[in-house]
Amino acid sequence: MNYIQTKCVVKRKGKETGESETLCFTKSKDNNNNNMCDRHCGKRYPLLSFWELPEFMKDNEYILRYYRANWPFKQALFSLFRWHNETLNVWTHLIGFLLFLGLTLANLMKPKVVNLLELFTRSFSSSAEKNVSHNIKDLFLGTTLLFDLNHQIPLTIELESTALVIARWPFFVFLGGSMFCLLSSSMCHLFCCHSRDLNLFLWRMDYVGIVVMIITSFFPQIYYVFLCEPHWQIIYLAGITAMGLFTIATMLSPTLSTSKYRTFRAMLFCSMGLFGIVPAIHACFVNWSNPRRNITLAYEIGMALSYLTGTFFYVTRIPERWKPGWFDLAGHSHQIFHALVVVGALAHYAATLQMLEWRDSFGCDTVP
Ligand SMILES: [Zn+2]
Repeated sequence: MNYIQTKCVVKRKGKETGESETLCFTKSKDNNNNNMCDRHCGKRYPLLSFWELPEFMKDNEYILRYYRANWPFKQALFSLFRWHNETLNVWTHLIGFLLFLGLTLANLMKPKVVNLLELFTRSFSSSAEKNVSHNIKDLFLGTTLLFDLNHQIPLTIELESTALVIARWPFFVFLGGSMFCLLSSSMCHLFCCHSRDLNLFLWRMDYVGIVVMIITSFFPQIYYVFLCEPHWQIIYLAGITAMGLFTIATMLSPTLSTSKYRTFRAMLFCSMGLFGIVPAIHACFVNWSNPRRNITLAYEIGMALSYLTGTFFYVTRIPERWKPGWFDLAGHSHQIFHALVVVGALAHYAATLQMLEWRDSFGCDTVP
């Protein structure tokens, strides 16, 4: 032990909640500085218990220990490699971000979309991989065809010579939105222990990231499904973008970032996601003859189930509410929520590949 006394003081009354904030200080023998400390003191930046946290960090009363609080940037950064109750929250979305970064780079380098999920999806695949030619001549042919969306491709011609190059930007909008969400979430969990101001800012960025991911997820599906009916593209994309911007404006309010509004936030996210049911039903009729319709739908249902199940854990705080203190380091609701967000995003990526490969092969001709 390198401290001589620990003293807890009531710092101030919370304006909104009326609750007092209790801070514990320890006077160090070495440098006579006051450092926040817990009963396991001995390290300069020890992990705290829930009751020792400053009020702004008290979010989940069922996670009892291993908190960081008021850590400098450097220590917060290096806590990436240290066990605390945010370690898996950071890593689940950091790995998700790196995965999507890899998919984005791989897709940027090749004209054909990269199906890194093929190993996982092969058993569901309804048709063999289309052999899309990469030569320059075909690339120019495809680009020219892009200007004629109603161009009919004779089915008897080899796919190699008729491969279309459908616009890729909606696909990359989705990949970019996913990366933004996963990275902002990861950084939020890593640095939220730094200070009150940064904590509030980062949580708001985290929520904005979720909204951006939901909005951008709609782009490829709506663009490719309604490729031959541009007015529907505009209506649906404008609708979801307007809804997203409204949600972002709402999320930027500091009050709505507090744990009190957890359910409200979840409801907003869900309602944005459920907005997708309208174009999804419409898309089923538009693409009734698409041989990949069922597999695409299966992936999208998988995505919806992942997100909804994740939201359920996020709101209910199961399982830690059943056994407070048991899931502090691993297995608590937020980690499950994070993992399911990554699974949902991957399912959506797989669905988008199906849609894109189908459009690449047949353009506006929906007959296989
Ligand atoms: Zn999170």
